[in-house]
Amino acid sequence: MTDNPGHIHGEVFDAAVIGGGVIGCALARRFTLDGARVVLIEKAADVLDGASKANSAILHTGFDAPPGSLEAACIAAGYQEYMTIRDRLNLPLLRTGAMVVAWSEAEAALLPGLMAQARQNGVDDVMPLTEAEARRLEPELGPGVRAAFRVPREYVIDPWSAPHAYLRQALENGARLLCRAEVTGGRFDGEIWRLETSRGVVRAGLVINAAGLHGDRIDAMLTGTQHFTIRPRKGQFVVYDKPAAALTRHILLPVPTAVTKGVVVCRTAFGNLLVGPTAEEQEDRDHAVLVPETLTALIRRGTEILPALADHDVTAIYAGLRPATEFKDYQIRLDAGRRYVTVGGIRSTGLSSALGTARHVHDLCAGFGFGAAPLADPVWPRMAMLAEDEIRDWQCPGNGGVVCHCERVTRREIEAALTGPLAAGSLAGLKRRTRVTMGRCQGFYCTQELAAITAGRLDVPMTGGDT
Ligand SMILES: Cc1cc2nc3c(=O)[nH]c(=O)nc-3n(C[C@H](O)[C@H](O)[C@H](O)COP(=O)(O)OP(=O)(O)OC[C@H]3O[C@@H](n4cnc5c(N)ncnc54)[C@H](O)[C@@H]3O)c2cc1C
Repeated sequence: MTDNPGHIHGEVFDAAVIGGGVIGCALARRFTLDGARVVLIEKAADVLDGASKANSAILHTGFDAPPGSLEAACIAAGYQEYMTIRDRLNLPLLRTGAMVVAWSEAEAALLPGLMAQARQNGVDDVMPLTEAEARRLEPELGPGVRAAFRVPREYVIDPWSAPHAYLRQALENGARLLCRAEVTGGRFDGEIWRLETSRGVVRAGLVINAAGLHGDRIDAMLTGTQHFTIRPRKGQFVVYDKPAAALTRHILLPVPTAVTKGVVVCRTAFGNLLVGPTAEEQEDRDHAVLVPETLTALIRRGTEILPALADHDVTAIYAGLRPATEFKDYQIRLDAGRRYVTVGGIRSTGLSSALGTARHVHDLCAGFGFGAAPLADPVWPRMAMLAEDEIRDWQCPGNGGVVCHCERVTRREIEAALTGPLAAGSLAGLKRRTRVTMGRCQGFYCTQELAAITAGRLDVPMTGGDT
């Protein structure tokens, strides 16, 4: 990671963002493009190490968000901006559409209300489907379907290239990144914040707390008040091998409950098929432990939805933690006197809402006047394309050869991910940038070559047999 603490400690920034999740990355971009001098502070060796490392990768329309909520507004704005900028940043979009499927009469009775809610949220192209119509669109659906409706603009994206693109655009336009820097304290002297980090003091005129699963603790530590409590909600997933992706075209959604959007079956941008997530309350904010019995139940549920899944192999399993709170809506709060903003409780829609959330926070801070105009001609980085159905680097000349054969990752892609303003700082970060070792063999064949390429360049060196 190309951070330079010496230089960072010598500056007074307009804004310091705490936390390099998708929200922090989008905030860094928004404030930078609008002319502020920004530093992003992240405690891990690389960004996207918290809630943002493991989600379902759905670009939500917000059709089922509570009408009138801040969440609904941020999703709508975030969705819109993603669609506007994704071409320039070279970000993928799998135009799947979603289908909300009712599996009982009681669920079917809820569909009209959900469609009305969608229209209230501005998603006015939802379409009711009879059982026969649903089956015509998704012939592999299992028995028990009662009715359904389509949400045509609900799509799948790459959960990592999007936030990486936001941050890269910030960095290439002057923002700074300080990784391995845990914020441990700080004080505001009426004009300037002095944030204490494990890598020294950072000074800024505004602090934005985007610390995800630790947002409430940062508030308590820096302001002495805490308006919400994080209640981590675990989601476990099962990833099927690529041939399974042919079993469905839509994102297959259950009828949501007050607590969860429920178990989803959908393709991924990388050409796999995903079943999950669960919604499990837990105390631990950092570790999402996989539970064999739960994964078995997920496989069973996936096979009820698509019986032909029984003939396909599982490639991987993973789990993530949502930064849920005791409230349903996002917890975004400006303390103008202290020049401090909390962007907390971005529970289960943060990937979709991030760009909109960042705009909302920037608007909240408009009165602070950072003294600079929006950038007239910002740099637009182009991200490496990892989506299975797009042209990939292995198909292009001069790529140095394929290193990871399952995911077809080239030496050139790996080298690129290890250099530049947002170089991978950890093996996990390298996987998120390239998908190396994330395929069928889970690194069995490419680890040795990868260890040689990454020697001296990751926080924890790879050994030949370590994935
Ligand atoms: C199972 C699951 C499924 C989901 N599915 C979807 C989906 O399909 N679509 C969608 O839009 N959203 C989805 N989400 C939601 C989305 O992933 C979250 O809303 C989002 O990741 C929250 O991002 P964040 O930036 O707020 O928090 P985080 O990603 O947790 O980022 C916070 C960062 O702050 C850092 N940090 C913490 N404390 C400190 C400190 N003291 N000093 C410095 N740094 C610190 C952490 O290391 C972390 O990197 C899902 C989430 C989960 C878990």
